Amino acid sequence: MVIILKDITKKFRNTTAVKGLSVEIREGELVCLLGPSGCGKSTTLSMIAGLEPPTKGDIFFDGKRVNQVEAEDRDIGMVFQNYALYPHMTVYDNMAFGLKLRKTPKDEIKRRVEEAARILDIAHLLDRKPKALSGGQRQRVLIAMALTRDPKLIIADEPTTALDVTVQKQVIALLNELREKLGFAMIFVSHDLALVAEVAHHITVMYAGQVIEQAPTRELLTHPTHEYTRGLLGAV
Ligand code: ADP
Ligand code: MG
Repeated sequence: MVIILKDITKKFRNTTAVKGLSVEIREGELVCLLGPSGCGKSTTLSMIAGLEPPTKGDIFFDGKRVNQVEAEDRDIGMVFQNYALYPHMTVYDNMAFGLKLRKTPKDEIKRRVEEAARILDIAHLLDRKPKALSGGQRQRVLIAMALTRDPKLIIADEPTTALDVTVQKQVIALLNELREKLGFAMIFVSHDLALVAEVAHHITVMYAGQVIEQAPTRELLTHPTHEYTRGLLGAV
């Protein structure tokens, strides 16, 4: 799926969270949104996911304007950092929950949950409750959950920030492998350039609600044009 954000602005009362943002994500591509806390990264993802409408501007999926399309109908899998699993439900029931809400037939739910569990190598964890999982295992469950939607796009909002550095790298490598194998596009939000530089095709750098720099990863690393990006590179 090709995702185009065209001149998007988002205002919350007197805060302009995002201002005149344009981004294009090509078929199967991994784009990283990079920028400091509060610069509008999560707000941008919320608009792509359909959780928040833009105040101004348009969002296109494969050429179709989706501003009015409900979140459930957008074929997007979300992997968020602090997305909670229901503690009283097993991993299986957590994974099945969203599909149940969407009135998916029971045998189809079973098929999709088992397929995603197989891909993420968590089939042996399906009967466990979330508290019996390690941080890395919980993250695999969240990714598997996103895959049950058979997504055309995965949006990941700092999905690894709470994990150990080595586990962070594993999770990102895993997401990237899945993207290559299953063919979905991916938008990865981070404030850590070193973490995403190896996998991202393009990097969009945001600052104070605006795009300040946008380039293929290698070009951005070798020829950063903005002072903020240079600072980030200096810290790597
Ligand atoms: P980031 O994810 O880059 O840290 P956010 O997109 O969460 O940044 O936030 C961007 C700005 O918008 C911040 O100033 C934040 O306080 C504000 N903001 C985000 N969501 C809301 C909301 N629901 N209501 C009011 N202000 C919000
Ligand atoms: Mg955020």
